[in-house]
Amino acid sequence: MSIPESHHPARWWRVLPDGRIECDLCPRYCKLHEGQRGLCFVRKMEGGRMVLTTYGRSSGFCVDPIEKKPLNHFYPGSSVFSFGTAGCNLACKFCQNWDISKSRETDTMVDRAMPDEIAEAAERAGCKSVAFTYNDPVIFAEYAMDVADACHARGLKTVAVTAGYMTEEPRRAFYAKMDAANVDLKGFTDDFYVKLTGGHLQPVLDTLTYLKRETDVWFEITTLLIPGHNDSDAELAAMSAWIFRELGPDVPLHFSAFHPDWKMLDVPPTPASTLTRAREIALKAGLHYVYTGNVHDPAGGTTSCPSCHEALIVRDWYRIDHYSVTPDGHCPHCGTAIAGRFGAFSHPFGNRRIPISMHREDRP
Ligand code: SF4
Repeated sequence: MSIPESHHPARWWRVLPDGRIECDLCPRYCKLHEGQRGLCFVRKMEGGRMVLTTYGRSSGFCVDPIEKKPLNHFYPGSSVFSFGTAGCNLACKFCQNWDISKSRETDTMVDRAMPDEIAEAAERAGCKSVAFTYNDPVIFAEYAMDVADACHARGLKTVAVTAGYMTEEPRRAFYAKMDAANVDLKGFTDDFYVKLTGGHLQPVLDTLTYLKRETDVWFEITTLLIPGHNDSDAELAAMSAWIFRELGPDVPLHFSAFHPDWKMLDVPPTPASTLTRAREIALKAGLHYVYTGNVHDPAGGTTSCPSCHEALIVRDWYRIDHYSVTPDGHCPHCGTAIAGRFGAFSHPFGNRRIPISMHREDRP
């Protein structure tokens, strides 16, 4: 059964001279008449103000390995309490989560939880962190930020999994509450963004440089490689060179495999050889930590010391088979600092996914 809407006052909007309101949360700047919703579907003009219709409502809760976000340098082996809502502020033709992102809410909003209930459930499940994922937390920023406060009060970390498509002021407010992020860099040409996502490249680059220059949020980047659309040698070399130049060599980069979905059913799945080729290009550009995802690839799943090249974390998919980073984040062989956030490593969560019900009567 779906959960009814709850209309929470939203931030980042203004009244226009013609009586409409403009949403300033993301670079779409939707202009809305009374009763209208933005492109993301979840922000709406109601009673002359903007409301968020998904506050306290979720499309489901799961405990996942942190590697699944993907974050390979943020407390490896830990578990993360994951949830999302509905809607999205991009319109990617290749969306791999379209049942949630394109949802008109009522069909996917199946659980209700207020911020402290989520933090409490995450703590009870033994998670290190809570992730805003499955759909982009930018569009439910007020809810995600309140959950983040509740998590921090209980000593939990917070993780945003996002396309990074937002404007400056909300970006500052949002990332002040986040400990880590995985940001999608969907391609490296504006043409790709315009034609296949309905957005633009520059705001995403702005988010990445903001994170690097003005915050201590730990972040990693993911690029879904789509055959024939964003996987040319030239585009991958340009993207890798930009990351190296603007963000430095220590930002991990994940290349993941596309499968035909949503409005791109005519494009074949990404061959493993494309992921390997992309990884080689990025390593050649000087990046220290480049991974392949959604494939069994021992080399592409391994974190090696950038100095002595010793294999420090060996992964198979989301499972860690070998781990030797010191608790304070150094290579035990040569003492080089490994970029990221590390701690004591004991029993990795492994390749599991545990659905969680927030209704007490349904809990085991
Ligand atoms: S967050 Fe939603 S309503 Fe606001 S500008 Fe972006 S798409 Fe439009």
